[in-house]
Amino acid sequence: MKNPLIKTVFFTEILKGMALTFRTLFKSPVTRRYPLVKVPALPGFRGLHALAKDNTGRMKCVGCGLCGAYCPSQCIHIYTTEGEDHNKAVERYEVDVLRCIFCGFCVEACPFGAITLSEHYEYANYTRDDFYMTKEKLLANWDKFFEGEKGKRYFKEFWRPMSDDFTGNPEQAMFSKIKRKERT
Ligand code: SF4
Ligand code: SF4
Repeated sequence: MKNPLIKTVFFTEILKGMALTFRTLFKSPVTRRYPLVKVPALPGFRGLHALAKDNTGRMKCVGCGLCGAYCPSQCIHIYTTEGEDHNKAVERYEVDVLRCIFCGFCVEACPFGAITLSEHYEYANYTRDDFYMTKEKLLANWDKFFEGEKGKRYFKEFWRPMSDDFTGNPEQAMFSKIKRKERT
């Protein structure tokens, strides 16, 4: 029915809408009553940040600043100082989560697998401070959300280093060196 006058007189659009409503009236709903009904986050979901620890429980981050340099929102702030034996030490590592867009660039940029995005997404709160993650909070997040084998699996399953996919020119000095190593 193309004539708009006929459509208006016979309420065809309204009848179509009502028909659709009646067709779906007795079907089970596709929406979930969150937070009463929850589904686990998909594996690899990019939620709240955490700072990774190694097997001895030490923070992996060395304070190189690559994550902060890559972050498009500029929401990572790192302050380093001179530690024991004149080593560089991370004094403060902070993430302003309210500015984060969860792109994951920080995770990709880190050469040490030191920053992670956990599957935790339920952290709504009332003050800005609650979303300002300090080094201590980020390390605690690692213990909370990456306990046991989960932390070890994280990088393997979701953030496999790009170098794994990289095939170089065998003539290039660097790769011929690797080849020689493989032969011996
Ligand atoms: S996920 Fe993206 S926006 Fe968020 S801290 Fe990392 S690099 Fe920055
Ligand atoms: S999290 Fe990684 S990239 Fe960022 S400062 Fe620490 S070691 Fe460097």
